[in-house]
Amino acid sequence: MTALSTSGSAAPRTLVISPNWIGDAVMAQPLLRLLKQQHPERPIDVLAPGWVAPVLRAMPEVDTVLSTPFRHGALQLRERWRFARDLKQRGYANAYVLPNTLKFALIPWFAGIRNRIGYKGESRYGLINVMHHDDPQHPRAMVPFYAALAGAPSAVAPADLPRPALRVSTPQILPVLDKLNLQPGQPLLAFSPGAEFGNAKRWPTSHFAQLANTILADNPEMQIVLLGSGKDHAVCEEVRALAPAARNLAGQTSLDEAVALIAQASAMVSNDSGLLHIASALNRPVIAIYGPTDPDHAPPFSDIARSLSLRIACSPCKQRECPLGHHDCMQKLDSGKVWAELQPMLHFR
Ligand code: SF4
Repeated sequence: MTALSTSGSAAPRTLVISPNWIGDAVMAQPLLRLLKQQHPERPIDVLAPGWVAPVLRAMPEVDTVLSTPFRHGALQLRERWRFARDLKQRGYANAYVLPNTLKFALIPWFAGIRNRIGYKGESRYGLINVMHHDDPQHPRAMVPFYAALAGAPSAVAPADLPRPALRVSTPQILPVLDKLNLQPGQPLLAFSPGAEFGNAKRWPTSHFAQLANTILADNPEMQIVLLGSGKDHAVCEEVRALAPAARNLAGQTSLDEAVALIAQASAMVSNDSGLLHIASALNRPVIAIYGPTDPDHAPPFSDIARSLSLRIACSPCKQRECPLGHHDCMQKLDSGKVWAELQPMLHFR
């Protein structure tokens, strides 16, 4: 973690420990904006796993992104203690712990940060000393859930929260297009056919391919890119096999590059995944496809956005694999329905 020694300032800083998921990190951005409004002079450091860091680097409120050196899911108590002792040198006035786990709450406690703010999570009494409580019977959407941490635990969260917003400049986009041999003068459309959570959240690859072929029949100049991590490459390859003009870039780009491509895209069609929330925060036109998850929990929030869900009787089941075996929530959402919503969006590009 090279950034630990670069502070060079005696001004108190704010530490935010980021969620581990890309989509959740995007949803935390309004909290950062509220914290910046409260203390404009106070630099905000965010501690985040490497795979989330590019999203945080696109947030103007963030001064420094610090990479977590821990293995995903591992306690590594001694390493956390040593890491926290180094963190202490940066002079934090407060720490906001967004993951609900005990192990992340240990870090600001080990570092001796006076105000340690977060939800009760795994009964983190003592570790969190400004403790917020959530009602599991009435879960809030992710943006107000995180933004509430900016106020006192008893305070009512502001009703007019800013929506998450990421910033990518044209000079950041053009080299990425050039590297990937994409034409800046031709329209670009991004698909995100993967979903980390499991197969049930994936709209069928044949539907993505059918949509791509329909679009290309009407718009032969359209450049369609399939985005995702290396884990999504095989799924995207299934799409490409049926729609050969689509480019499978899953696992071929860094997340920074994927963010740049989404910023350039005329629209994005996505499963309920982290890239969907990046597209929303970049205010790109978005079609979000939901099957086993609740479309109202973390909906896309671009100016132009559509959430598509058949809302069949068994949904949202929130299962990784369809327990009924038929996957009707996704199978019966045909590409024609998506195209009907997407087509008018492309006129706004
Ligand atoms: S049980 Fe219903 S909602 Fe869940 S994956 Fe199967 S079809 Fe979709």
